[in-house]
Amino acid sequence: MKVKKIILIGPPGGGKGTQAKHLEAEYGTIQLSTGDILREAISSGSDLGKKVKDIIEGGGLVSDEIMIGLIKERLLSNDVKSGFILDGFPRTISQASALNDFLEENSMKLDAVLEINVPDELLIERITGRFSCDNCGQGYHDSFKLPKLEGICDECGGTVFTRRKDDNKETVKTRLEAYNKQTSPLISFYKKIGILSVIDGNQDIKLVTKCIKEVLDA
Ligand code: AMP
Repeated sequence: MKVKKIILIGPPGGGKGTQAKHLEAEYGTIQLSTGDILREAISSGSDLGKKVKDIIEGGGLVSDEIMIGLIKERLLSNDVKSGFILDGFPRTISQASALNDFLEENSMKLDAVLEINVPDELLIERITGRFSCDNCGQGYHDSFKLPKLEGICDECGGTVFTRRKDDNKETVKTRLEAYNKQTSPLISFYKKIGILSVIDGNQDIKLVTKCIKEVLDA
C-alpha cells in the first residue's frame, strides 16, 4: 500500500471498525478509533470518560472541542507519525476543517478518504445483533457470525462476550440521525477536495476489504 493517511467515513454499523482492523493487520497502519478511545476513557473512569458517558449512551455526538483536542494530541504521538486510519473522526464539518488545518500546520497530507456506503435500512439489524469477545475484541453477530463453538471465542478461546451499551434500537436511531445530519456533509466536503472514493459496504466483508485495497493500491 502506497497510501498511509486514511479516513474512513460511514454510518454506524457500516463496517468502518472491521475494515480498519483488517487494514491495520495487513499494512501495519494504526487504526485510530475515536469511539474506542472514548469507551476506554469511560471504562477507566477518567474525567473525559465521565464527561462523555451520557452523550455516548444517548447516541449523540461529543463536542467538537473535546474531539478535536483529543485527536490532535493523538496525531502528534510518534507511533502514528508515519500513518493512520481514522475511524470515527471527523464526524462534523468543523472537525474536518480543524483536521485539515492541523495536518497542513504539521506538513502532513491525507492520502485517501473512503466512504463506506450502506443503506440505512440494513444498519439497525447489523448493529443490534453485534457483540464482541471481552478478551481480544473479536467481533461477532447473532445472525451473520456466531462463534464456531457456542460461547467460545474463535480467536482466543475467551468465554465472556459484551454488547455495546449504545447498540440498541432506540440509540441506533439517534446515531443514524446524527450521521445523516452532521457527518454525511463530509462526503461532499472531501469530494470537492478530490480525495473521496466510495466503497459499496453492502457486500461480504472480504469483498469490501478487496475494494478498499484496490483503491489504496491504485
Ligand atoms: P463509534 O464507535 O465510532 O460508533 O462512536 C461511538 C460514539 O462515540 C458516537 O456515537 C459518539 O457519541 C462518540 N464519538 C466518536 N467519535 C466521535 C466524533 N468524532 N465526534 C463526536 N462524537 C464522537
